[in-house]
Amino acid sequence: MVIWMNIRVAINGYGTIGKRVADAVLKQNDMTLVGVTKTKPSYEVDLAISRGIRIYASSVDRVKLFEEAGVQICGTLDDLLKEADVVVDCTPGKVGASYKPVYERAKVKAIWQGGEKHDIAGFSFNAVCNYKEALGREQVRVVSCNTTGLCRSLFALDKSFGIRKVRVVLMRRGADPAEDSKGPINSIVPDPVTIPSHHGPDVQKVLPHIDITTTAFAVPTTLMHVHLLNVELNRDVTEGEIFSAFSQYPRIRIVSASDGIGSTSAIIEYARDLGRHRYDMPELVIWKESVKSFGKEIYLTQAVHQESIVVPENIDAIRAMTRIAKSGEESMKLTDAYMGIGR
Ligand code: NAD
Repeated sequence: MVIWMNIRVAINGYGTIGKRVADAVLKQNDMTLVGVTKTKPSYEVDLAISRGIRIYASSVDRVKLFEEAGVQICGTLDDLLKEADVVVDCTPGKVGASYKPVYERAKVKAIWQGGEKHDIAGFSFNAVCNYKEALGREQVRVVSCNTTGLCRSLFALDKSFGIRKVRVVLMRRGADPAEDSKGPINSIVPDPVTIPSHHGPDVQKVLPHIDITTTAFAVPTTLMHVHLLNVELNRDVTEGEIFSAFSQYPRIRIVSASDGIGSTSAIIEYARDLGRHRYDMPELVIWKESVKSFGKEIYLTQAVHQESIVVPENIDAIRAMTRIAKSGEESMKLTDAYMGIGR
């Protein structure tokens, strides 16, 4: 068995998720970022180079674009993969699947994101739920932002009280902040109009025993997703017991409307005031006042910062696949400390 001291990480696709995972890798002291790929020159390439990040063209036919712009690159994706132990695929949804044979040929461990199907790796990952099952794997898919948020709160509730069933309404942000050509401007779009949305079945890829049905709507906002959860538990619980269950998990942050954090924009302002880079909030945020118990049946409302919630999960997936940390608790502690997140 290979014992890794310092894991060499490559990132294919340096967009919303890729640049955040790259920054998170740079902060870990048991990982090295060997480089990232870009399809063409851009301000993001210039900024990355100015910070010492090595840039590779995503394919041979793209090299010309960098040469014409006078941008110094270190080679192509194939060159990058030769230097890496793990590649984190952060290309757009469904594009990542086309790289599977490339990663396999290069004999690098590969992580895909939630835009790819479960079958791409045959294993869907969430650090708190199934870290141990990821130990030593060659290929892993980190579940999407919405699924990550649901896995975090449902795992905490299930561990403490046992879940009988879950019903969720998801209000999904229409687009990410930089995607100015996407998303509804003046409508609420049932997305999909059919029930269930894919989120429930996706949660079951990580927590197969949970009875969950989800419905989703796209709404005209870019900041965060919001989920309304209705959960039936195996026993009566008090609201105090629910808070105590959540308090055992560092990537869940309870906020209060009475403290002035009563909306997604207020959460983002809070992240800014915390000094978070790019106003990221990788913790799942739950509104204190929304937690309501009716005995076995409870309600809560949670918010998911789609651009950053999966970033620490990718770092934990790297540690699990290379066995550099044996437990999820150990890895999450390191990840959160280096990233400056958690409670
Ligand atoms: P993005 O469009 O912001 O970034 C993708 C990057 O890959 C861009 O820099 C693009 O130029 C580059 N790219 C495009 N084609 C490529 C190719 N063939 N080879 C290499 N690079 C290529 O996308 P994103 O939002 O970062 O999403 C990446 C993955 O993460 C998707 O699977 C997505 O579903 C998932 N995800 C996204 C979010 C989110 O809210 N943005 C949240 C969780 C998971």
